[in-house]
Amino acid sequence: MVFDLNRGILKLYKIFLLAFFTSTLVANNTLNFSLIKKGIDDNNTLLIIGGIQGDEPGGFISASLLSTHYEITKGSVWIVPNLNFYSIIKRSRGPYGDMNRKFATLSKKDPEYETIQRIKSYIKDERVKLIVNLHDGSGYYRPTYIDNLHSPYRWGQCSIIDQTKLNIQKYSNLKEISQQVVKYVNKNLLKDEHKYHVHNTRTKEGDKEMEKTLTYFAINNGKAAFGNEASKSLATHTRVYYHLLALEKYMDIMGIEYKRNFRMDSKGVYAAINNDIYISLYDNRIKLPLSEIRGFLKYFPIKKDQIIDFKASNPLMKIVKKGNIYTIHYGNRRLSKLKADYQEYNKKNDKVSFLIDGEPRDIAFGTIVNVSKNFLVKHDENFRVNIIGYTNKQKIETDVNINKKQIAKRFSIDKKGYIYRVEYYSKDKFAGMVLIKFMS
Ligand SMILES: [Zn+2]
Repeated sequence: MVFDLNRGILKLYKIFLLAFFTSTLVANNTLNFSLIKKGIDDNNTLLIIGGIQGDEPGGFISASLLSTHYEITKGSVWIVPNLNFYSIIKRSRGPYGDMNRKFATLSKKDPEYETIQRIKSYIKDERVKLIVNLHDGSGYYRPTYIDNLHSPYRWGQCSIIDQTKLNIQKYSNLKEISQQVVKYVNKNLLKDEHKYHVHNTRTKEGDKEMEKTLTYFAINNGKAAFGNEASKSLATHTRVYYHLLALEKYMDIMGIEYKRNFRMDSKGVYAAINNDIYISLYDNRIKLPLSEIRGFLKYFPIKKDQIIDFKASNPLMKIVKKGNIYTIHYGNRRLSKLKADYQEYNKKNDKVSFLIDGEPRDIAFGTIVNVSKNFLVKHDENFRVNIIGYTNKQKIETDVNINKKQIAKRFSIDKKGYIYRVEYYSKDKFAGMVLIKFMS
């Protein structure tokens, strides 16, 4: 039973991997947010927004996971996982002030003016009928004061509405919808303390601060809009667990159907966030697995023109260049720094021949190959081969069987010493990389 389920998950995973997020490195501060459309566009679209404040990873990772690990089988979902992408990369709440206070009036000179106009246009789009803005708030919201961490002045673990209802066609009963979400989340609590409540901010009755927010802008444009808050007291993956529970309920309420390719529990969510994350460079000539990557990789082949084209397994990844150091960011985390070894790149993208545990195989550049005992790189007159961390007296690296002990561990891609680089050069131009991953 478990075996079958896992096979299903693997199959789904392969489908999702096709949906890579393409990007180029940006040198300035204008990081545009992504709009990811899932399912088939219709007039009942759910718009999910994460990352309005860069220091709330529970919210933006949830939106990102929905874009990478869910398939929408009925209905339409639009996802903005990284609204304030610059603040996410900077790990700062708002480098240009709080973005969630810029929805009433805003000077055209504000550096975030264009971003605000763009997100407003999606909120106002007639296809969009319900909007959820994801936040991580401090402590635990409680309707009555219990203690400093559990009180009406805290924002964690609640579903936020600006008022009880709206005069619109669909989803006008904000309070009832919010109650349904809260009830569903509370059926799936990991701990009693994590209990959700409806939090009505009664914005119209004179909350000047809340009048400047995204949700208030939305309801004034005739859209049902909700804030969903997880608690900053919780680990990131636990926050994501609660956000996703809420989002699944919103989809359910709207008649949107989905398939999720991980188990909805603490472990399942953790693995979805941290495992199987990749970045592919230069037309897939290099594929880097990131979950266990070392913090610093030396002599990394970067194209001489210094432009780095990459595809990432999720929309929260970015490569930022400073001098000859290229830093890979994943949301608030800095996964690794690549120190450039500037190379000319060969135009051709080929396959190369190996023996993997004695079996002949043709392998494309950018592949990660699992090896039990040993591998052998076949001599190919078109290429010079460099197995990073391997040396022998004869200085010959092809047509010899190599096992893990023969490569110096400090040259591995990963912290644990299982993954090694085999680089190919053709007439002194970099041609591509294959990664060897020892299984033990
Ligand atoms: Zn927030």
